[in-house]
Amino acid sequence: MTHYDLIVIGGGVSGLTFARRGAAQGWHTLLLEADGRFGGCLASHRYGGAAEGFWTELAAHTAYNSYGALLELLDETGLGRLQTRRKAPWRVWDGKCLQSVFARMHWPSLLPSLPKLLFTPKLGLSLRDYYGRVMGRRTYDGLLRHAFSAVLAQPADDFPADLLFRKKPRRKDLPRSYTLKGGLSGLAEMLAAMPGHEAKTGIAVERIERVAEGFRVHAGQDQWTCRRLALAVPAWEAARLLDGEFPDLSHHLKQIAAAEVESLAVVVPKEGLALPELAGVIGIDQDFYSVVSRDVVPDARFRGFTFHFQPGRFSREEKLARIASLLEVPIDRFVQTAERTSRLPSLKAGHLAWVSEVDLLLSGEQLALVGNYFYGVSLGDCAERSKAEFDRLCRSAS
Ligand SMILES: Cc1cc2nc3c(=O)[nH]c(=O)nc-3n(C[C@H](O)[C@H](O)[C@H](O)COP(=O)(O)OP(=O)(O)OC[C@H]3O[C@@H](n4cnc5c(N)ncnc54)[C@H](O)[C@@H]3O)c2cc1C
Repeated sequence: MTHYDLIVIGGGVSGLTFARRGAAQGWHTLLLEADGRFGGCLASHRYGGAAEGFWTELAAHTAYNSYGALLELLDETGLGRLQTRRKAPWRVWDGKCLQSVFARMHWPSLLPSLPKLLFTPKLGLSLRDYYGRVMGRRTYDGLLRHAFSAVLAQPADDFPADLLFRKKPRRKDLPRSYTLKGGLSGLAEMLAAMPGHEAKTGIAVERIERVAEGFRVHAGQDQWTCRRLALAVPAWEAARLLDGEFPDLSHHLKQIAAAEVESLAVVVPKEGLALPELAGVIGIDQDFYSVVSRDVVPDARFRGFTFHFQPGRFSREEKLARIASLLEVPIDRFVQTAERTSRLPSLKAGHLAWVSEVDLLLSGEQLALVGNYFYGVSLGDCAERSKAEFDRLCRSAS
C-alpha cells in the first residue's frame, strides 16, 4: 500500500489547487477524482462532428483577475493561455421582450437609497435584506433578486450578502475577465498536468479511516495511506465520508443543503439568428435562472447558448422548445446540444459563523476541508479556501 504525505479527494478547482500547493511544497501528493475527467464544475463541452472546434460552458463560464489564489498557481505559459472575454451586455427577459438591465431599475426609489450603500454593513444579512435596504425594495424585487439568482444559479434571496462581491485585489497585468482557448476546463487540465503530483480519475472514494500513520483511504479494492488528507468534494459528500471518524464535523456539513441546476446548451449557426450579440440573459420570473452566451468569445460559424434551468420542471424536449422560442429559431436549427446537472451549496445569511465553528473543529487536525461552501461559490473563493487550509496544514507541520 503506497503512503503519501498528502491525499486530496475531489478534482474540481478546490482539489486541483490544493494538490498543486502540496506538490509545490515537495509533499508526495495523490489526487483522486471520481469522474472520468478533472474539473467538476469547470465543465466546458467541446463539440465534434458538424460543430468540431466549438465549445460551450455547462457550468462556470467566467473567471476574473481578482482570483489571486488561483492565478498565483499558473506559470508564465498558463497565464499566457488566458483569453480575454469580449465586452457584451447582459440583457433581461421577462417572457415578452429582451430589455437592458437599466430599464428594469426603479430609479425613484433607487436614487434616495444609494447613500445607504456606503453605511450599511453586509455582515450577517441576506441578499434580500441588504440589497432591498440599500437599492430599494422595487429594484431588488424587479431586477436584483433575479440577477443574483442568475449569478448563483439558484434562488438567491437568503444567500449571505457578505459572501457575494467581496472586495479583492485585482491583477492589473491580466484581463479583468477571461476564459481559455477551449473554455475554462483548460484551467483544470493545466493544473492536473503540472508535474509533482499523481492524479487519478475514475476513483470514487468510498470510505476514510484514521490510522496510526494518519488516514487510510478506500476505493473499491484500492487503499492508500497518508499523513494529511484534504476533502475537496461537495459538503454532503464530505459529510458522508466523515460520518464514522469525525461525527461532529459530519453533523455540521449535513446542515449545508444542495441546490440543483439543469443546464442545457445549444449550438446554432450564426447565419439567420437575429438575436443581438450579448453576454447573457437574466430570467425575470422564468423557469431558467440565466442564459450564458458564447458571444464573448466569438466564432466565425456558430453561436452557443447555455440555459441554466430550475430543476425538475421540464423534460429535455420541453426545454429545447423553450430555448427555440426565446432564440426565435426552429429546433431543427440546433446543430448540437449538451447537458449537465450541477449541484451547488445553498448558503444562508450568517454562514461565516458556521465556517468559524467548522474551523474550530478542524484545528489541530491533519484534515483539510475545502470547497465552494466556505468563502463563497466562485472559482476564486474555492482557490482562496484551499490556500487558507493549505497554510494551516503547513503551520501545523512546522
Ligand atoms: C451553472 C454554474 C455556473 C457557474 N458559473 C461560475 C462562474 O462563471 N464563475 C465562477 O467563478 N464560478 C462559477 N460557478 C461556481 C464554480 O464553478 C464552483 O463553485 C466551483 O467550480 C466548485 O469547485 P469545487 O472543486 O469546490 O467543487 P466541484 O467542482 O463540485 O468538484 C468536486 C469534485 O469532487 C468529485 N468527487 C465527489 N465525490 C467524490 C468521491 N467520493 N471521490 C472522489 N471524487 C469525488 C466530483 O466528481 C467533482 O469533480 C458556477 C457553478 C455552476 C454550477
